[in-house]
Amino acid sequence: MGSGRFVLLLVFSSLIFGVFSQPVLKILPEIRKSARVDPIAGDRKIRVDDGMFCDSWRFSVETNDAGLWKQIPERCVNFVKEYVTGDRYASDSVVVAEDSLSFAKTVKVSGHGKDVWVFDIDETLLSNLPYYELHGFGSEEFDEKSFDEWVELAEAPALPASLRLYKQLQQLGFTVVLLTGRTEAQRNVTEKNLLFAGYSNWERLILRGPSDEGKIALVYKSEKRMQLEEEGYRIHGSSGDQWSDLLGFAMAKRSFKLPNPMYYIA
Ligand SMILES: [Mg+2]
Repeated sequence: MGSGRFVLLLVFSSLIFGVFSQPVLKILPEIRKSARVDPIAGDRKIRVDDGMFCDSWRFSVETNDAGLWKQIPERCVNFVKEYVTGDRYASDSVVVAEDSLSFAKTVKVSGHGKDVWVFDIDETLLSNLPYYELHGFGSEEFDEKSFDEWVELAEAPALPASLRLYKQLQQLGFTVVLLTGRTEAQRNVTEKNLLFAGYSNWERLILRGPSDEGKIALVYKSEKRMQLEEEGYRIHGSSGDQWSDLLGFAMAKRSFKLPNPMYYIA
C-alpha cells in the first residue's frame, strides 16, 4: 500500500471512529430519573421513552425481579395492550412452548403413568384476554365478582401454543395434571371450559378446596405437588404464567414461565 493511500485510510478510519464514538443519543435528566435507569450505567446514553421503559418493566416483572407488583404503571397500559393483543405475546408463548417440548423430549417416560407435567389453567392453558380487554388489561383493580361471572360463561379460548404443547406432551406419554387457584365450586364450569377450548384426557384437575382457603398460591400449589410426589408421581415439567405456579417446594425438574404482564399472584 502506498503511503498516500495509507494516510487516506487513516483519515477515513478516524472519521468513522469519531462519528461512532460521539454520544449519538442524549438523555433528558427528568426522563432518566423517572425511568429508573441505573446510575451505574453512568456514561451510557440511553433514550428512555415509554416503549423502552415499558419493555424494561416487562423484563423485570417476567423475571420476578420486580417481586410483588399490583398495578401496571400508568405509562405502560397501552404497551401491555399492544403486547397482549399483538403478535409479540403469541410469539413469546410459542418460544416457551418450544423450549418446554425440547426439554420434554429428553425425559425418559416410563409408561406407567407416573411421569407428570403440571399445567396451571388461567393465562396458561386458557386465555382470559376477552375479559381483560374489557377491564383495562389488568390496569383496573381486580374485581372478583365480574371475573367469576366471566369464568361461569366457560368461554375462555385456549392459548394456541399451550394447546399444541399439551397434546404433544400427551403423545410423548406424559400424564397431565391441572393445578389451578380456581375453587372447587368452579370445577364443573372449568371442566366445561377446558373441553370447549380443546383440552381433554387430563389425569387430575386440582382446585382449591375448603382446607386451602387463605393460603397463598405458592404454598397451596407446592403442597399439592408434594402430595403428587407422595403418591409416586414424578413431576418433570411445570408450566405457569405466575412464579407462584412454579416456585416453592416439590418443584418440577424444569419450570416454564409463560408471559403475563397483566397481573401478579403471590
Ligand atoms: Mg395462571
